[in-house]
Amino acid sequence: MKILVINCGSSSLKYQLIDSDKEEVLAKGICERIKIDGVLKHTTSGKEKKVIEAPMPNHNEAVRLVVEQLLDKENGAIESLSEIDAVGHRVVHGGEKFASSVIIDDEVYAAIEECNDLAPLHNLANLIGIEACRKLMPGVPNIAVFDTAFHQTMPEKAYIYGIPYKYYEDYKIRRYGFHGTSHSFVSNRTIELLGKPAEDTKVIVCHLGGGASICAVKGGKSIDTSMGLTPLEGIVMGTRSGSIDPAIIEYIAGKEDKSIAEIMNILNKESGVYGISGRTSDFRDIDEGIKEGDKRSKIAFDVFCYQAAKIIGGYVAAMNGVDAISFTAGIGENDGEVRKNICEYLGYLGITIDSEKNKVRGEEKLISTDDSKVRVYVVPTNEELKIARETVELLK
Ligand code: AMP
Repeated sequence: MKILVINCGSSSLKYQLIDSDKEEVLAKGICERIKIDGVLKHTTSGKEKKVIEAPMPNHNEAVRLVVEQLLDKENGAIESLSEIDAVGHRVVHGGEKFASSVIIDDEVYAAIEECNDLAPLHNLANLIGIEACRKLMPGVPNIAVFDTAFHQTMPEKAYIYGIPYKYYEDYKIRRYGFHGTSHSFVSNRTIELLGKPAEDTKVIVCHLGGGASICAVKGGKSIDTSMGLTPLEGIVMGTRSGSIDPAIIEYIAGKEDKSIAEIMNILNKESGVYGISGRTSDFRDIDEGIKEGDKRSKIAFDVFCYQAAKIIGGYVAAMNGVDAISFTAGIGENDGEVRKNICEYLGYLGITIDSEKNKVRGEEKLISTDDSKVRVYVVPTNEELKIARETVELLK
C-alpha cells in the first residue's frame, strides 16, 4: 500500500509517501513559510532534490503543491492519485477521547475540534491539513494518529496533578504526555531487541530532541511520562523551560511588568538550553561551546543531563526496576556525551556504557557493556513509519 503521511504545523507541512509493504520512503518533503510566502523542498527517492518557491497562502495550497510534486511526470513518485491508499495524519492532542488511532469521519473531526482548547496552535493546524486532504483527495481515507494516545494507559496517580480535583473534572486538566508515536515505536523495538514477552518488560525511552520527553513503559504500556498537560513540562529542552516552580511566573510578572502570555512565550521560546547558555538551543553548538571553555554551555549541558537522569531514576522506582533504557531523537541518537553523562548518574543500577559502542550516531545499537545489569540502546525513532503502520492496521 502507498500511504501519504502528513504532519502539519502552524506554518509548515512535512510529508512522506511510504510504501508500507516494503517500509520504504518513496518521496518526502516539507512546505515551509505557509501563510508567509512559501517554499517546498521535495525529494523523490533516487531523484534530485527540488526546491520550489511558490505562494502558499494556506494549507490547502500547500497540499495541492505536494500532490502536484508527487504526480510530476519527470520528478514524481506516482502516476495517479488513485495510487494513494490512505493519508495518515499526525494529530498532537487527542485529549481523553482518543486512546488509539482512528479513521476520520465527521464525528471524529468534531471530537478532535473539541480537543483544540488543549493545544490550540497544533490541533488547528492538524485539522486544516486533514480538511485540505479531504478536499483534494476525495474518497481517500484519512487516519488520525495522536501524540497523546500512547499515554492514555497511564494510571491516575501518574496523571492527576496536585491541584483541586474540580479542575480535572471541569476542564480535564491532567498529564497527557506527548511524543507518543515515538515512545511507542522505540519501546516496541526495544522490547523486540530484549527478546522477552512484552508483559515481562520494563523499558525507559528517552526522546531527546528539540523537544524532549522521557517515558516509562511497563509491559509494553506507557505508565508515566515527563510532558504534561502541554509539552512545556518535564526536562529542560531546546528553548522550553521544562518544569519550574509555578510561582516564578508571578515573580517575573511583578518584576518586569509582563503579562502571562509574554511569560509563557519566554518559557516556550527563550528558555531551556537556549536560555541558560544564552547562545544556542542546538546541542552541537553546546558541545562546541564546552570545548571552547564556555561556562554557560557547560551549565546548560549539566542541567539537561542531570534532569534527565533524575526522571529516569524516578521511573526505575515507578516500575520497581528496568530492563532497558533507549535513547532516541536528534540528541539521543547522535550525542554520545549526553548519553554517557546521563548513564554515569545511573551507575548504582549496574549500568555501564561501552565507550567505543557509544560513538554511534543515528543507528540502532546496544551501547552498554556485556556485563551491564541494564541494557542501554540507541534506537532511531521513525514517527512517519509508525503513522504509516497504524494507518495500514486501521485500513485492515
Ligand atoms: P529533533 O527534534 O529530534 O529533530 O532533534 C533536533 C536536535 O537534535 C537539534 O536541535 C540538536 O540539539 C540535536 N542534534 C542533532 N544532530 C546532532 C548531533 N550530531 N550531535 C548533537 N546533537 C544533535
